[in-house]
Amino acid sequence: TAKTRQRLVIGNWKMNGSLAANEVLLKGIREGVENATAPVNCTIAVCPSFPYLGQVSQALADSPVSWGAQDVSLQESGAFTGEVSATMLNDFNCTWVLVGHSERRALHGETSEQVALKAQAALAHNITPVVCVGETLQDREQEKTLAVIQAQLAPVLALGEQAVNKMVIAYEPVWAIGTGLTASPEQAQEVHAYIRAQLNTVGAGNVQVLYGGSVKAANAASLFAMSDIDGALVGGAALVAEEFLNIATA
Ligand code: PGA
Repeated sequence: TAKTRQRLVIGNWKMNGSLAANEVLLKGIREGVENATAPVNCTIAVCPSFPYLGQVSQALADSPVSWGAQDVSLQESGAFTGEVSATMLNDFNCTWVLVGHSERRALHGETSEQVALKAQAALAHNITPVVCVGETLQDREQEKTLAVIQAQLAPVLALGEQAVNKMVIAYEPVWAIGTGLTASPEQAQEVHAYIRAQLNTVGAGNVQVLYGGSVKAANAASLFAMSDIDGALVGGAALVAEEFLNIATA
């Protein structure tokens, strides 16, 4: 049976870019989508670093391409030096925000409870949180993958049916991020099916579940063919307009 969920491809630019480089990339993405010979049957978004949200929102205004941020504070406002609130993201018309990316969890000690609070803060401001989960290589070798995913999802699912139905989940095995080692479609599908079963337990079995980790134009189609993979969260390959668009249309 055909998937009814809309395909979604999000570029995570991480800490890359400059005003000049972004201008070229944004123009390439926008023109690529607007001049495509066949209609692009996919929701496309980019997530730049905070300082470039103004630039991105101007460059993509009135285009089919949406944008978001790479993180958000779980606080509303106040004495939180260096943090960026969901209200601020609203000022730049962010549709999306990544929460709990593995680099935030590993390098900034974000816990799954904090990630859930960030998702909740985003939802309170009508921004769709893209909740990232994924196991390390060690977790996988110790056959703890599903247990790790369950633990990462638990505080998020505890937010309840209404909240979870407004989210997107991204499965990104840590060992596949930036390594060139993609999970095989079957490996990814196994975890996606598990995530969907978890989502089902709170009545949110139809939310989009994206795969991330060394997605390229060359492997995107075989991943998207899997029944529970609804799109991709793309790092390195999102920094080249043509490659990124080839993933979206794969
Ligand atoms: P990658 O990154 O595509 O460069 O592996 C994906 C991500 O971290 O979101």
